[in-house]
This record gives sequence, structure tokens and C-alpha cells, in this order.
Amino acid sequence: MKKKKALSGLVAVSLLTVIPWSSGHAEKPQWTNVNTYEEQDGSKFNSENYDFVKFSQIGSKLKEIEKLSNRVKVEVRGTSADGNPLYVVTIADPTTQGKFGKVKALRKQMFKNPGKAQEWVANNPDFKVPIMINGSIHGTEFVGSDAILQLIERFATQNDATTKDVLENNILIFNVVQNPDGRIDATRFNGEGIDINRDFITQSQPETKEMVELIKEWNPMVFLDTHGYVKNYQPNLQGLIEPCTPPHNPNYEYDLYGKWAYKQAEAMEAEIMKDHENYSGSLYQNMKGTYIPLRDDSAGWDDYPPIFTPMYAMYHGAYGHTLEAPTNDWDGVRWMYNSIMGALKFATANKQSMITDQIEVFKRGINFDHPFHKEGLFPKAYILPLDPKDPTVTNKAVNHLINNDIEVVQAVNAFEADGVLYPKGTYLVEMDQAKAGLANTMLWDGEDITNDTPAMYDISAWSLPELWGFDAVATQNPIKVNATKVNQITGQGKVSGKGPFMIPNSSVQSVNLVNRLLKQGIPIVRDAQGNFFAKTVANQVSAAVKESGLQVGTADVPADAVAITSLKVAILKDGGMGKQKSHAGTKLALKRLGFDVTEVTPVEVAKNPLNGFDIFVYSGTESLISTNLSEANKEFGLQNAGQLNAFKDNVTSFLNEGGKYIAVGAGASRATKTLGLTDDIINVGGSNSNGIVKVDYEGTGLTAGYGENDIGFVYRPTWFTDTDNDEIVATLADSDNFFVAGHWKNNITAKGQAVIVKEQNKDVTLIGLEAGFRDHPDYLFRLLSNAIFEK
Ligand SMILES: [Zn+2]
Repeated sequence: MKKKKALSGLVAVSLLTVIPWSSGHAEKPQWTNVNTYEEQDGSKFNSENYDFVKFSQIGSKLKEIEKLSNRVKVEVRGTSADGNPLYVVTIADPTTQGKFGKVKALRKQMFKNPGKAQEWVANNPDFKVPIMINGSIHGTEFVGSDAILQLIERFATQNDATTKDVLENNILIFNVVQNPDGRIDATRFNGEGIDINRDFITQSQPETKEMVELIKEWNPMVFLDTHGYVKNYQPNLQGLIEPCTPPHNPNYEYDLYGKWAYKQAEAMEAEIMKDHENYSGSLYQNMKGTYIPLRDDSAGWDDYPPIFTPMYAMYHGAYGHTLEAPTNDWDGVRWMYNSIMGALKFATANKQSMITDQIEVFKRGINFDHPFHKEGLFPKAYILPLDPKDPTVTNKAVNHLINNDIEVVQAVNAFEADGVLYPKGTYLVEMDQAKAGLANTMLWDGEDITNDTPAMYDISAWSLPELWGFDAVATQNPIKVNATKVNQITGQGKVSGKGPFMIPNSSVQSVNLVNRLLKQGIPIVRDAQGNFFAKTVANQVSAAVKESGLQVGTADVPADAVAITSLKVAILKDGGMGKQKSHAGTKLALKRLGFDVTEVTPVEVAKNPLNGFDIFVYSGTESLISTNLSEANKEFGLQNAGQLNAFKDNVTSFLNEGGKYIAVGAGASRATKTLGLTDDIINVGGSNSNGIVKVDYEGTGLTAGYGENDIGFVYRPTWFTDTDNDEIVATLADSDNFFVAGHWKNNITAKGQAVIVKEQNKDVTLIGLEAGFRDHPDYLFRLLSNAIFEK
């Protein structure tokens, strides 16, 4: 049995590198079952509590261990969204203490001179390898941090042969609790309602940024991310250890990863099995192994989007694994402990070859040598021209790339590429660099993978240029221009002229500036193009403009411009329905646009009129107004039919008194129908369909600043028919190729259909696009501000 499995796994690994996976192998994806299992246990977020170590005890526990041991360094590296400390514990043998700087410098050699670095490790077998272990990024998956605390104690104090061997060969870096807010509140999310393990491309949260810094600092060889809970995916296979099923993102050097990650997973499984008689539960005593998606399935648990921590770490050359313990109890802690020990032993035994292949990833990048990639997947360079009036979007992108260890240079002179002349100062991302895979996955357009796999686990398109709204022109030809390396950009804005001042409707920053000036009491009008005009003198706006990064000049105020005021926004709060906080991204988008945003729960809307608010935003699941909820979801929604009626009444009187109602996405659109606020037919695609689409925007008013053949993003795609008495302001492009990138079966049925509509006789706007999705699509945020400001 064991042998056969090993064989099929190896075959799978080698096939991956040569034959694209075909949908002929399709099986029903398993992810829809995940929630079912967990919710059947009657838990909200797997929070049937064992006596896990409380966050409040962890700091003092770490300090105690630090005092006992000369191998341990404890640091607080920043704070969470709610202000809780982020603990990092580094463990190394005493001879390595004080030499971390040297180890890190040697790691940097991997990017400067990978050939030499490979030679060096061949001649210096006593080198130390950094291994990074991330604790409980999902707050209620408690076992991860508990296992880490036990491992810290072991490696700090024990002197057995294995402990010594691991410490002679490795430096262990533990991010002890990646999500303190979640552990404290017994929720999956951080204090802002964001799932941190979906944030590694956007990086909007402090916890994510801390981890990115940590990964960059060490470039770990192995990265383990601790989660729960997966059991019985296949009979007697308990827990889950990656590597994943296809589709694999083409921007990885997947052959190098797969070669070691699969064997390492089996080593973790073997370590668990060796100990299985010592577990207390029969689930564990009777297990025959663990579920390794790559070996045991053909689809349903993919590593395609780099929004997940281990997948992100893979772009820094790490052998990344998600580890899902089977249960939320001390057996689960034991399973996690064993699997991590399995990886530590395996990495210790194979470090020489594994590190050589990690360095090979960077070598391929630097040499622009990608033996397993489709010709042209990596362009020679991306050209990032600057918008002189509003450079804020490109500046944010350049800083983001630099923050991710991607080298960006700036042209010293004007230059020509593919027949186009670019001015001096244009940014360039040259793709012969160590982390080319990460650069490409951030900057490419993505691809339509609908026919490659039956379903995706999560998102399948994230292109920063398209969804953040900046130009990144790919060229297959080398660029000849002198250029200098860019460090951080601190772009300062500037006011010119005597006013009135035009603030273009061009970015998140520009709308944020408008909201800031409105709060200062400066009169502002808005024209049909969505541009803003501040009727004041320069010294009233200069400080805010400087901070915004915009270049603001004097202009005539168009006759059609209408006065706008500072508006108060209420957003319906999702406390975690079905393990999502669907409104959190939109909430953050509105905040970044500069609006005052208040979260109101469904029960609060039922109990209190929406007095004091100008705008009501519904961005989330229709279950928020359902009265038929499972035990697990009940506390986040309405409690009875009476509350639904009260909710309806309060929203209706809010509208009658001049309030504005905005629905974003599928669930909200459906709920709007339930509330009787639209007579449209709400059409919804599959719940795991998502991606980037071409949209024809009308271009004024509600969709000012957008145009024909422009960009949109859908997640559980939504479109509207029977729109007779609506104003239709945006439609999916009327072309067979309107779906640009992502995964959406039967998308053709939505071609040319309405995606943003406004009811004619009520102030109700329906946005089918996911304009604020997880705080990611900055480019679409202005659809929200347009809808808010539009009379
Ligand atoms: Zn998890």
C-alpha cells in the first residue's frame, strides 16, 4: 500500500513538469465539503475549545523560555490590526547566536551570485539553513501555535540527538501567533475582518506585512503554515499536508519545488505514523496516513494563487507547505508537532541538495533561463510609465514591488521600446532577476484557466496592473537605456495656480484627498466626468495635496458641476457567515477612499433606523438577511422573521427619507431583490467562478473615469436582466472574449449583459462587480465613490 502510493505520487510529480493537466481527470472538487464537515461539528469556526494556550499567556511563557536557554531570541515584530504583539522566536545553537547577520548575508549571495553560492554550500557543509514555521494564521485553528510552543520548548531546552542534529544544521524561525486578534476573539480573521491567508498579493494588513518582511529577511528554505481541520478526505487518511493538486501557477519553478516538497510531505506523514499509537483518539490510532493532495487527488486543493502564505513563500524559493491538522484538540497538536518534526528531520538530512535547488530558482531568474516555461511567459521587461498628474497608483505599485524584493529601476534618459517613446523617469522591471517568478505573477495579466480544472479553491486572477489601475507594458525585447536602482518612492504632491483647483477622478488617493478637503469644510463640486473642483485658495489645500502625492492645478469649473458634501456611510457587517467576512474588503476600500464608515449588524439595522447615515452599503452574502440560518451562522444574522420585516421597514424608510442604497456583488444583489428594492432578475454564476472581465462603462456619472473595453472583477459573477425601468451604466463587453483571466464556466451566457444598474424611481444602485473585493481592486474602488457622490 505504502509503496504503491509513493509510486503514484512520484509519477504525479514528474508528470506535472511535462504534461499539462487535463480536465479529463476531473473529479468533483472537495472543497465544498470542507465547511460541511466543520459545521456539522456545531462550531462557528472550529472553535469547539480544548484548553488551548491563551494569547495572554504566550508573551510571559516565551520570556521564561528565553531566560532558561542560550539558544533562543524572542522579538516583538510589530503589532496586529487590533494592536496585539507579533512574537517571533529564533532558535539556533549558541555558536550561531550573534551571527544571524552573517547567515542572512550569505543568503543574499543567492541572488547576487547564485553559482558561487551553490559552490560555497558544496564546500562548507556546516552551513545553517533557515526554516520558518508560521503559527495559526487562522485564529481558531489553535493547534498550530500550541504545537509551536512545544517545539520552542524542546529546541530551547532538550539535548537529545535529534534536537542537536536539527540545531547543528538549521536556524528555526517561529512566527508564534500570526493572528493574535483571531486567537483572542475566536475567529478566523484579524481585527479588520480580513483573512490574512488570502492577503499575500494585496498585503493590506500589518500581519501580512510583518510576514513578508520576515520571509525577505531570511529567505527560508522550508516554510510551514499551520492550519486545521481536515479529516477523512479519504478513508483513514487524517490531516492534510501539501503539495497541492493542479493547477499550479506557471510562474513557479515548479519542477524544483515538486522534487523536494513531495518527499518532504511523505517524511512528515511517516513521522506522524511512527507515533500513531501514542495518540489518544481512535481517529488517530486507526489512521493509515495523511492526505497529500498531489498524491491523493487530481483537483480541488490547488496552489495557483499566491494569496496563501506558503504559496507566496514559494516565490521566495521556499519549499512551502500548508499543514491541516485533523482535529481541534491535543491530538491535533500532536499531529502538528509530529509533522513539523518530520519536515525538520527531512530538511536536515537533505539540506545540501535542497538548498542547491533553492538557489537554482534564483539562478534561473537571474539568467532568464526558464527551461519548463512556455516561451514568452516571462517578458524581457515590464515598462511602468508614470501619469504626471496622478503618479500615486504607479508609485504605490513600485513601492509594493520593492517591498517584495523585486528590483525596479528608473530610466535616466528617454528611450524607445517596441516603437514607443518613453520619457526619462519611466520605471522598469527587468525580468532577469532572482525573484522573476514573483515579479511576473504580480505583473502579468493572468490567464483563462476555465478549461484546465473543474473548479478553483479560491481566486484565479489578481493582476496588479489591471486591478490596481496602472500601466505595465510587457516587452519581449531587451531595453537599452541607462537606469538606476529605485529604493522607496516618497512622492509628494503639489498645488499650482490660484484656484479653483481640479482634482481628477483618477485614483483612490484623489478621492481620499477630496474627502479630506470636504471634512476641512472646503466647498467642492463634481462634474459629469467625476472630476472634482475645490473652490478655495492654495494655502487651504496645499498640506493635504502634498500628502496625497497628486499634482493639482487650477481649472475652470464646468457649469454642470454639482456641490458634494461629506457623507456618512453605513455598511452591513458580516461577522463571519460561512467562515467569510464578505463586507470587510469593501469596508476597507471605503475607508481608503476617505469615507467615514460605520459597520452595522443585521440585527442593529432591524432594531434601529438608519438615522444619521447618508449611504447604506450592502456588500456580502444574502444570508445576512436570512432567517433560516444554521446554528453556526445564527449569531451573525437575523434571529427571526419579525427582524427581517423590521430590517425591510427601516431600509425602506431610510430610502424614502433621501438615503442612498448601494448593493455590491451577488449576495447583496439577491438580498436587494428579497427586500423588494429591485424588480430586476439577478443572475449569478458559480460560487467559485471568479476573474477579470472586460466591461463597457457608460463613462459619466456613476461610471465616470471608466470607459469602453475597460476592466472589471467578478467573484461569483452577477449580472442583471429584465432591467426595463433601470438606468444601465455598465455591461460586460459584448464579445466572446470578455472573460480575460480566471475561472468561470459557461461565462458566455453573461456576455453583453448589464453589470451596473440604477433603479429609476428609487435611489438603489446594483453593482454586479466585486468593486472592493478583499481590499484588492483599487482600480474599481471609484465605482463605489461614484455611486456615493452621484445624486
Ligand atoms: Zn486555516
